[in-house]
Amino acid sequence: MPSINENFLKLEKNYLFINIAKKVKAFTEAHPEADIIRMGIGDVTQPIAKCVVEAMKKGADEMGVKETFKGYEDSGAGYDFLKEAVAGYYKSFGVDIPADDIRINDGAKSDCGNIVDIFGDDNVVLITDPAYPVYVDTNLMNGRKVIYADSNEENNFAAMPDENVKCDIIYLCSPNNPTGSVYTKEQLKVWIDYAKKNNAIIIYDSAYEAFITEKDVPRSIFAVEGAKECAIEMCSLSKTAGFTGMRCGYTVIPHELVVKASDGSEVSIAQLWGRREGSKFNGVSYPVQCAAAAVFTEEGQKQTRANIEYYQNNAKVMASTLDELGIKYTGGKNSPYIWLKCPNNMGSWEFFDYLLENANVVGTPGAGFGKNGEGWFRLTAFGDKDRTVEAMERIKKLLSK
Ligand SMILES: *Cc1c(COP(=O)(O)O)cnc(C)c1O
Repeated sequence: MPSINENFLKLEKNYLFINIAKKVKAFTEAHPEADIIRMGIGDVTQPIAKCVVEAMKKGADEMGVKETFKGYEDSGAGYDFLKEAVAGYYKSFGVDIPADDIRINDGAKSDCGNIVDIFGDDNVVLITDPAYPVYVDTNLMNGRKVIYADSNEENNFAAMPDENVKCDIIYLCSPNNPTGSVYTKEQLKVWIDYAKKNNAIIIYDSAYEAFITEKDVPRSIFAVEGAKECAIEMCSLSKTAGFTGMRCGYTVIPHELVVKASDGSEVSIAQLWGRREGSKFNGVSYPVQCAAAAVFTEEGQKQTRANIEYYQNNAKVMASTLDELGIKYTGGKNSPYIWLKCPNNMGSWEFFDYLLENANVVGTPGAGFGKNGEGWFRLTAFGDKDRTVEAMERIKKLLSK
């Protein structure tokens, strides 16, 4: 009989969203007439841009013709046409990334979860709390020690490093899921200096970079000096171009990023990761890569920006409702998420029930993202415009009583 990885038994039994789904199901069974508005799960709702769909169809057609058929991709790291398109995209906001430092993947979650493979289990991992659950879970699965940097009301949910704390791997996410908070260039520089002092590597999740509107908020950690020697960046087309059901993302590992093995030899992180991928990953389907490349064309950018603006307008409606009610929140400005303080000192799950029962609106309890999330609540701007307006009207009516 095989033994199992007992670390899995230490994980939370139910993933947050399964708990929420159960509660919503029980409520709808008891109140079949209730018109429920879902602002919980972080999934997009707008269809993919027309020119992107056309590019995918063209790629699919090529697969059916002998002359243009494609089998396995040579490297599995993505076709040059897409890597160059991503490099061009970085250039459009002033960041120089050679195409060879980019790998195409089937979404940021995969790389984010799998990157732990190339690091030793004895590393100390620093994760901001609250956080996207993938960072914590994938490290606990390998039995690593996880420590936390507190994001809270005092620091506007943008945790900063504590000079007295030592660590080897750091996870940062900006714009943040779940809090919608962002790091400025100056704040990221502090993290980079801290990482260098500790010989640590930063894993930087920029899945929401396309939602940034403020000038001093960088779209990439590589917009900040010194990042190429200490950071890996993961991004995805899921939220920026509606690719949650298409599956395509990209990871940047600068060739400058090296560490020392126990025998003192220098090891390139990009090469190590490439070696791992060579054995465990065979690349992303050709039609999807064609679609992804279309996102970065002028027309693709124009059409996908329109969807992002649609969500940004929802966020504005949500933010102005909370302003009116005098409820504290972060996010909304550079992010599709609004992270609000539960009114009347309610707990996260208490407010979840209250909102579901009295406004028939579903959100996400902050406590599901870490201990500092208790008393806070996440609403997403990814919904339908009219439904978002309706939900905010219900919330206004309920909370101004
Ligand atoms: C949605 C999301 C991702 C992207 O996941 P995909 O696997 O690319 O769909 C990555 N990080 C965070 C924080 C997210 O919320």
